[in-house]
Amino acid sequence: MVSRVIPVDPFDLVIFGGTGDLARRKILPALFRRFCAGQWPSDVQIVGAARRTLDDTGFRSLVSDALKEHAPKHARDRVAVEGFLSRLRYVPVEAEGPQGWEELAGLLGQNRVRAFYFSVAPRLFGPLAERIEAFGMATEKTRIVVEKPFGHDLDSARSLNATLAAHFDENQIYRIDHYLGKETVQNLMAVRFGNMLFEPLWNSQYVDHIQITVAETVGVDGRESYYDRAGAMRDMMQNHLMQLLCLIAMEPPAKFDPDAVRDEKLKVIRALDPVLPHHIVRGQFVAAEGLPGYREVVGNPRSTTESYVALRAHISNWRWAGTPFYLRTGKRLVARSSVINVMFKDAPHSIFGEDAGRHANVLSIRLQPNEGITLKVTIKEPGQGGMRLVDVPLDMSFAEALGPENQVSPDAYERLIMDVVRGNQTLFMRGDEVEAAWAWTDPIIAGWQSRGDVPKPYDCGSTGPGDAELLMKRDGRRWQGIKP
Ligand code: NAP
Repeated sequence: MVSRVIPVDPFDLVIFGGTGDLARRKILPALFRRFCAGQWPSDVQIVGAARRTLDDTGFRSLVSDALKEHAPKHARDRVAVEGFLSRLRYVPVEAEGPQGWEELAGLLGQNRVRAFYFSVAPRLFGPLAERIEAFGMATEKTRIVVEKPFGHDLDSARSLNATLAAHFDENQIYRIDHYLGKETVQNLMAVRFGNMLFEPLWNSQYVDHIQITVAETVGVDGRESYYDRAGAMRDMMQNHLMQLLCLIAMEPPAKFDPDAVRDEKLKVIRALDPVLPHHIVRGQFVAAEGLPGYREVVGNPRSTTESYVALRAHISNWRWAGTPFYLRTGKRLVARSSVINVMFKDAPHSIFGEDAGRHANVLSIRLQPNEGITLKVTIKEPGQGGMRLVDVPLDMSFAEALGPENQVSPDAYERLIMDVVRGNQTLFMRGDEVEAAWAWTDPIIAGWQSRGDVPKPYDCGSTGPGDAELLMKRDGRRWQGIKP
């Protein structure tokens, strides 16, 4: 089986912040890989825009270096690199002033898709949107792409939505959560809604609880000042884990269409109960295994920002009432692993007697690394006298099952940028979704602030603070291991 490349129509893509970290590490390499895959027609134009004085040649040289570093395998093909670079232009632009805008407007083609990627600080989103319209660049085929963080709280998200809505319709605004672009995250929907096997059991009658873990081994290096203002709750829980929760818990949309999917996700967020203070644990990593602690890294010896958060959430609707969702994410943990564990209830009665042992089914959906699915099923322990039960994994690695030609899935940014060009918003967050997620998150953070909450320390290289284990233990449950 070989993955198909669906060609797209000609487009112009302007990257505001085209010289910045995100553009160099993610956006431009992703565009280059799609170029190598042959997904574009020949007259596509990519325009870098930032304040720095550069000409086209200077920008191409900067991008060439970025490709060598961040897309090394594809960058060995010199013909491909030359072909890609020849499509690049650069215009020095001041987001908050008049410089560069006439020139930028003059570069863009008529009557084709124009995508403007806002890879700049969020405070510049408003000035950019205003100038795109003022300089006559907003057409029906114009789309804007905005990066996370989308706001810092509900008020700021509302105000950002209102600013963008003053210049663009909602169907022109693409809010990126790169988690949604991951192949395996989309696979969540395929597994749930493409199989008859799981859906009938997918409710509180059969599911005891669900665990969602996004564990990282990296720290906050390079993002210290942003992270110390944000913390794990804003940086990961409010967006990435919330999106995973929505995909796992939502009702089947009538079709795979942007508003049908996003309506169902929104219903999940709106059905979330407020989180009780004793159902949430914050942590902060401390020095261990030769790695410095969080406070040293951010240079703030009094920081009370969490680098870890675990919580128990409840969705008050017919499907999920009574089934807790345990979510956890943290930095500098023992392993990098994103996994969703659906923990089924015990069989109602053991015909083999209690001594035989009981093992509940567990469906594990691994998002990274080694993407795949494991289902734990109970069988007879071989060779024993009498009937003793043991659980064994039915394990499927997607890479092995799909064959070597499909081992490299497109990076999330490749998928998402091409969706912008195609005009498909299914994997982008709608304004009301983002606001609902902040409405759930804000009281949690406000509670910490009013109580003067201090995160619990945990060692670098551990599984997180001990209190997170207690959160489960109190409910008679335990976390599945982090190590993949
Ligand atoms: P960065 O490295 O600081 O780059 C910022 C870019 O914006 C530079 O190209 C800069 O170039 C340009 N810029 C700054 N002020 C400008 C102005 N007044 N007018 C025009 N251009 C201006 O930041 P980044 O890490 O790439 O992040 C960009 C955005 O993506 C931020 O919103 C960030 O939160 C988000 N994000 C980043 C990452 C990541 O991994 N880096 C991940 C997720 C989200 P000049 O200084 O030459 O103007």
